[in-house]
Amino acid sequence: MASRGQSKPPQFLAAHDAPSPFSQQSSLATSAIRQALLVWFRSGHRDLPWRKERDPYSVWVSEIMLQQTRTETVKGYFSRFMARFPTVRALAEAPLDDVLSLWSGLGYYSRARNLHKAAQQIRDLHDGQFPSDPLAIAALPGIGPYTSGAIRSIALGQAAPILDGNVIRVLSRLFLLDMRPDSAEGKRRYWSLAEELLPAATLSATINDPGDLNQALMELGATVCLPRRPICLTCPVVRHCSAQKSGNPEDFPPAKQQRAVPMVRMVTLVVCLAGKVLLLRRPELGLWGGLWEPPTLALDGEESAHAGLVRLVQTCLGTSLSVENAIALEPFAHILTHRHLRFAPFLLKVESLPRLRLDGYSLQQWIDPTQPQALGLAAWVTALLGRLPELSSHPDA
Ligand code: SF4
Repeated sequence: MASRGQSKPPQFLAAHDAPSPFSQQSSLATSAIRQALLVWFRSGHRDLPWRKERDPYSVWVSEIMLQQTRTETVKGYFSRFMARFPTVRALAEAPLDDVLSLWSGLGYYSRARNLHKAAQQIRDLHDGQFPSDPLAIAALPGIGPYTSGAIRSIALGQAAPILDGNVIRVLSRLFLLDMRPDSAEGKRRYWSLAEELLPAATLSATINDPGDLNQALMELGATVCLPRRPICLTCPVVRHCSAQKSGNPEDFPPAKQQRAVPMVRMVTLVVCLAGKVLLLRRPELGLWGGLWEPPTLALDGEESAHAGLVRLVQTCLGTSLSVENAIALEPFAHILTHRHLRFAPFLLKVESLPRLRLDGYSLQQWIDPTQPQALGLAAWVTALLGRLPELSSHPDA
C-alpha cells in the first residue's frame, strides 16, 4: 500500500503534459492537495446519518445503499434499516423477506440479498464481528474494491483507496487525466492516483487521515466539483487543479458514449379473489430476485398483450383459467438503468381459482392490498397495488 512520500514508477504520467502527480517535483503538490482536502473536510461537511458512527457495519450498509442511488433517497432507508437491524447479527438472523421489504423501492435488490448473505457469513465465520483483514473483507458477497476501501479507510483507519464517480471526477480534473475510468488503463491510473494521494494509516481516537481523505474526495465531488458548473471559486484545491487552469474542467473525465436503452414490453395480471390479490415470489437470482409481484412476463417480439396474457396464465400459473373477463388497465412505464419497461396490466376478478402449478416463481400468497406489506416489492408493484382501490372501481371492473 502506498504511503506518504513513496516514489512511483514513471509509466503513470498524466495526459496533456501535466506534471505527474508521482514525480519528485510534484510530491510537494500532492502533499499540499492532501492537506488542503483534510483541512477543508474537517472544517465542515454534510451531516449524513451514516457519518455519526464509524463502525464497519454502518459504513458497509451506507456504502452499499449509496451505490447507484442518490444520497437524499438513501437517508431514510439507512435510518430505517439500522433501526430494524442494528447489528450484523440482527441482520443475519432476519428472514430475507424482512430485508427485502425494507429495501423495497431502493432498486438493485441483489445488494440487499448480498448484504444478508454476507451478514450470515460474518456471523458464521467471524463470530459476528466485521473482519479487519482485507482478504476476509474482499471474500464477503457484494463487497468489491470500492466498498472494501470505504470500510477499511473510514471505519478501520487503513490506508485503502476508494474510487467512485465523485472521486474519479475530482482526480481527472486535478491531474488532467483524460481517460475513461472503465478502460483497463484508465482503471489502473485512477486507482493509482487515489492510492498515491492517501496518507499513511494514523487511526487514533480522533484522527483518521485515510478515512477523512477519502471522504473529503467524495464530499468535494458531491458538493463542489460537480459534473456541470463546478464551483471552483470555493474549491480548497483550486490552486492545484490542472483542469481549472485549462479553462474547461467540465470536459473531464471524458463522457461515456451513450448506448440506446432497449424497450421491453411486459404483461402483468392482477388476480383478485375476495378482496385479496395473488402475489408470486421470483427466484432469488436475476432481476427483482426474491421479490413478490403479480404474475408477470415479458412479451415476445410482436406478441400482443392479450396473447401474452393467455401465455402467462398457461405457463406461469399452469392453469386453464379463462382470461376472457380480464380488464385491460392503464399501461405504465418503469425505467431501469439498462432497459425501459412498458407494462400492460390486467385485472381479473375470480370467485375461485384452479390449483396453480407455478413456473418461474417459487411461492405464492394472497395479500390484502390495503394493508402495509412486510414483503419485498419492486417499486412498480407498490405503485400498482396502491392504485388497486381506484382500479377496483373501474367502470368495467
Ligand atoms: Fe473541481 Fe474546480 Fe476544484 Fe478543479 S478547481 S477540483 S474543477 S471544483
